[in-house]
Amino acid sequence: MKIDILTIFPEFTNSIKEYSMIKRGIENNIIEINSVDIRDFTENKHKKVDDYTYGGGPGMLMTPQPLADSIKSVKTENSHVIYLSPRGRVFSQEISKELSNYEHLILLCGHYEGIDQRIIDKYVDEELSIGDYVLTGGELGAMVVIDTTIRHLPGILGNDLSKDIESFDNNLLEYDQYTRPEVFEGMRVPEVLLSGNHKNIEEFRKESRIKNTRKTRPELLKKIGG
Ligand code: SAM
Repeated sequence: MKIDILTIFPEFTNSIKEYSMIKRGIENNIIEINSVDIRDFTENKHKKVDDYTYGGGPGMLMTPQPLADSIKSVKTENSHVIYLSPRGRVFSQEISKELSNYEHLILLCGHYEGIDQRIIDKYVDEELSIGDYVLTGGELGAMVVIDTTIRHLPGILGNDLSKDIESFDNNLLEYDQYTRPEVFEGMRVPEVLLSGNHKNIEEFRKESRIKNTRKTRPELLKKIGG
């Protein structure tokens, strides 16, 4: 999968290439990630990429010319263009699975008060929000989308099975987990996990998933009739 991040802060988005799964995915040629500096495309002699909004109002807006030209520099017929935006569909595990099927994602990061509507109308396939709050720029959103999406690609996770038993699968959150030592600061690992009885362990984990979901995300349980 190829991912191009269009941004005015390429050093920031490039930083995700240095760590963990993303780094390994790049080294193993499973993903290619490029940060494209929108400012490199501006025809403004002062390198400006923003201007006042028509109709008045506070703040500046990203101008269409550098955005259109930076999109055109990477777009092919297989590209899916996403504008990170608080107005978008709210990103989720389900959407990350959908996105993992694309060959090429272009993630457009806005700043200031956002971007000229004509870019959205002509070039953007969908707007995605990472939650009901306003960020100063789309870069953190792009990084969240990339990190979550690439986990679905074969070969990214050390153990591909681990993504099948994570939070949000079947609308349940993850079960409680423990590692060594057996006793930590007086607290024991639940006996059933040491028993070797796989049926009982499975039952414990199922109940733990339901308990955790009921505690913080009861609306998920409703989706599965709970
Ligand atoms: N004026 C815009 C509004 O009220 O909807 C907010 C603009 S915000 C200050 C600047 C940029 O941050 C946006 O263009 C977008 O790319 C990004 N952004 C802000 N909140 C976001 C969110 N919840 N999800 C994804 N991107 C977001």
